[in-house]
Amino acid sequence: MEIPAHVRDILEGLELGGYPAYPVGGCVRDGLLGLTPADWDVCTAALPSQTEAALPGLRFVETGMRHGTVTVLTGGGPVEVTTFRRDGAYEDGRHPAAVSFQAGLEEDLARRDFTVNAMALAPDGTVIDPYGGQEDLAAGIIRCVGNPSARFEEDALRILRALRFAARLDFQIETDTAQALLAQRGLLEKISPERIFKELTGLLTGPGAGRVLRDFAPVFYVFMPELAAQHGFWQNNPNHIHDIWTHTTMAVDAIVPDPVLRLTMLLHDIGKPARYFTDEAGIGHFYGHAETGAAMADELLRRLRCDNAARRRVTLLIEYHDIEPPQTEKSARRLLAKLGEEVCRQLLACWRADSDDRGQAVKERNLAVILRSEQAMETVLAQEQCFSKRDMAINGQDILALGVPESPAVGRILETLFQQILSGDLPNEREPLLAQAARLREELTP
Ligand code: ATP
Ligand code: MG
Repeated sequence: MEIPAHVRDILEGLELGGYPAYPVGGCVRDGLLGLTPADWDVCTAALPSQTEAALPGLRFVETGMRHGTVTVLTGGGPVEVTTFRRDGAYEDGRHPAAVSFQAGLEEDLARRDFTVNAMALAPDGTVIDPYGGQEDLAAGIIRCVGNPSARFEEDALRILRALRFAARLDFQIETDTAQALLAQRGLLEKISPERIFKELTGLLTGPGAGRVLRDFAPVFYVFMPELAAQHGFWQNNPNHIHDIWTHTTMAVDAIVPDPVLRLTMLLHDIGKPARYFTDEAGIGHFYGHAETGAAMADELLRRLRCDNAARRRVTLLIEYHDIEPPQTEKSARRLLAKLGEEVCRQLLACWRADSDDRGQAVKERNLAVILRSEQAMETVLAQEQCFSKRDMAINGQDILALGVPESPAVGRILETLFQQILSGDLPNEREPLLAQAARLREELTP
């Protein structure tokens, strides 16, 4: 496996100082998968101060000195260098001098979460792999190093890390590991919402997200109990072929792996169970579930400390996910004026993802409606028609120049013109707008 020059320099510097050092963890895993590692981590016998002394001329950020981590800044990017982990043994600054270097590395690997993350690279490039990581990597398996129950007990975040790696690498979770993480899901109550949310978004944007959501649903219900009511909830409606939860997980897979869009699909029907009713014919309906769902999603995302911009966008998309897609240029123009181009394009993606898991006839009908909507929007956008008052060909100054006194009448005239442009009754051009404004002046000024 190829080790980039900026990492090799660090390894050599540490070796020269008498400290064995190895690339370890995610970079080894990704390299073996043929992926370019996002970042390189190095483990070493050196303490952070010794790492700094062994690498003269480089700059450092003391990221986690108490945990033995120093970030080395190089021309090729930052590299995290961490002293061999040994359960807090360094917190009082004691040096693991008595530990042989080989023992140091083995102990370090034993502390790591999964076999595929517990590999290091020797200086000659061979893979140091005491837990069968390469075999699991080839078979596509996430398996705890050591006893799964004990490892989740030590650190419950590993429950979600297992699910994140399974979703992102599209791996299966080994049976004992899977049973243990399901059995111990309650431990997640102890994990901060920020860390949970980070793992959740990482997981949702992976290619195996829908499957992991289905296979490990009870884990997700620990920190999103609102979703549990969807489980096995039959919709009794010819538009649907699955229970709400299954539909939700399939809708997640059906949209591009963008965090906002995947969160939207995860939560889009969260308001359905509360809004269910059956009509006289026994057909199920969910009137108002989009508004209810937007409010529930807002609360859930606040609780998980989702950033405000993402939360606002997700709830907006949920609020509009169930509207009838506009079919005419006039209605498309109105929606574009209200929500803007970016949101409208996201809505098109949501509508399509929501239509994916349907019976064939319903799906074809829905997709035709969405396509017409898209075409109407594209036409409006291509004509660069007027969407916000800022884009109008005249402004307040022009109205004043017509002799309208400075008063609320100016705004009322502009608003009326704006509505007439939106409805297609007036072109967004100066002359016709000024002529119409002059007519409105008579009607609207006292
Ligand atoms: P990525 O950065 O792509 O998410 P990664 O494997 O590099 O994957 P990090 O969170 O950066 O993940 O952690 C680096 C390494 O540290 C992991 O590969 C693993 O060996 C170890 N590790 C991280 N978190 C834990 C944990 N909670 N328990 C045990 N080992 C961990
Ligand atoms: Mg990493």
